[in-house]
Amino acid sequence: LFPGFKEVREEEKSQMVGNVFSSVASNYDLMNDLMSGGLHRLWKERLVSKLNPFPGMKHLDVAGGTGDVAFRILESINSVSYRARKDMLDDTLQEDTQIYVCDINPNMLNVGKKRAQERGLGEDGSLVWVQGDAEALTFEDDSVDGYTIAFGIRNVTHIEKVLAEAYRILKKGGRFLCLELSHVEVPVFKQLYDYYSFSVIPAVGELVAGDRESYQYLVESIRRFPSQEMFASMIADAGFQKVEYENLVGGVVAIHSGLKI
Ligand code: SAM
Repeated sequence: LFPGFKEVREEEKSQMVGNVFSSVASNYDLMNDLMSGGLHRLWKERLVSKLNPFPGMKHLDVAGGTGDVAFRILESINSVSYRARKDMLDDTLQEDTQIYVCDINPNMLNVGKKRAQERGLGEDGSLVWVQGDAEALTFEDDSVDGYTIAFGIRNVTHIEKVLAEAYRILKKGGRFLCLELSHVEVPVFKQLYDYYSFSVIPAVGELVAGDRESYQYLVESIRRFPSQEMFASMIADAGFQKVEYENLVGGVVAIHSGLKI
């Protein structure tokens, strides 16, 4: 969720992204809790509730990191499946569920695989870990029912390429959902949030992760990310319909969504 990057040349950016996430992988989940006061959990819950996961779905979580969003999707499906089994005595759909976690960084994926094992999640093959680049996915056209990207699109080099890939691989009727740190516009809250961003985040980054720089760049990367309205138009330009967004905590984060029709 939190590491960001200073202004760098394009060819250096992906290298830098790789280095930062390799160095934060082991304490990434702890840092998320500390920096967001645990709120990232609620934000991810909200993202998954908008997705409305269903048994048998093929879903791709891009920039999936340590699996947080994918785990929630699978848990939500498992609870639906349990009800379905109870009510209909039919669990055939559940067997086909596949949640792909795609990330460019193998260290993040390895932490995720370990967490999944500890929780006993995905042992039936319903969780699939894929190392890959959001800008050039290896998935086939029209192959997944849902696409999520949480706190990932801000770090990519070409947002347009990521959106084009999301559109390409979604089936017709499939939903694109993006959770991202965004822009606070409410005046007094904005000042408080600025203070928190510029002073507290780098200090906690230094104290806990011993890495002030990565966390300082976070603030810059949020500033550079397009406004809610601008990002919504980029999603529409990629071909998505019914594009909308919801601000959470006054715009600290926003969830954008679009449908491939
Ligand atoms: N989605 C997870 C979450 O919300 O906890 C992880 C978010 S973390 C802030 C951003 C992730 O994006 C990192 O795991 C990083 O390796 C990944 N990432 C960065 N650039 C990427 C790219 N081009 N393609 C795929 N993943 C990428």
